Amino acid sequence: MKAVYFLGNRKLEVRDVPDPTPGPGDVIIEIKASGMCGSDLKYYRAADGAASIGLGKKSDKPIIAGHEPCGVVVEAGKGVRSPLARIGTRVMNHHYAGCGCCHQCRGGWTQMCDDGSTTFGANGDGAHAKFMRVPADSIIALPADLSFKAGAAISCGTGTAWGGLDRLGLRGNETIAIFGQGPVGLSGTQLAAAMGARVIALDIDEGRLQRAKEFGASEIIDCSASSPLRPNEGLHERRISGSS
Ligand SMILES: [Zn+2]
Ligand SMILES: [Zn+2]
Repeated sequence: MKAVYFLGNRKLEVRDVPDPTPGPGDVIIEIKASGMCGSDLKYYRAADGAASIGLGKKSDKPIIAGHEPCGVVVEAGKGVRSPLARIGTRVMNHHYAGCGCCHQCRGGWTQMCDDGSTTFGANGDGAHAKFMRVPADSIIALPADLSFKAGAAISCGTGTAWGGLDRLGLRGNETIAIFGQGPVGLSGTQLAAAMGARVIALDIDEGRLQRAKEFGASEIIDCSASSPLRPNEGLHERRISGSS
């Protein structure tokens, strides 16, 4: 198959490599859409490619780029019991793998694995290729009314925004201020507005703020023109924190 490698210093290469085969517990996804996010630009620009970013275990070989995978299951390895692993199932992929045994992995936080995580597209082969091997327990069903492109976005940025809102326990009668209207912030604005919340969107870019308005923000604040917070105002905040 053909696969894209980020070699560092803004160089990339399309290489012919063998198709991946599934190990025990793995599935192979035929990739239909593979997104690019801000992290990919870091990997692309970094002197030593993704290896120099310091995410999880360091790989000693070049890595296929792409950490927003979406496609169709085409093969399953031994011991896979997930109903999602049936051939032909449309899936997204949570692009991390951990040991599966530590308290972080067992809590669903494989990216925080005590033993060091694998981040596909950074230190494990990613989705800029025809096929990708992932653990069967890292795939998520893609509903029929969502496109593969939408699924790729949800696999990273939009899913991160949803995870934050979910952890906040946002309700439709609440107001939320979302600082920064990049892809994750805009996703948060879109999702929170759809949930019925009043969204105050903040950014320094007029284009981003207009997009936030289109996505349902009730108020927009241009922080380059005026400070949204007065000193010692004593706001009671519930912040979203975590990693994508
Ligand atoms: Zn991403
Ligand atoms: Zn672990």
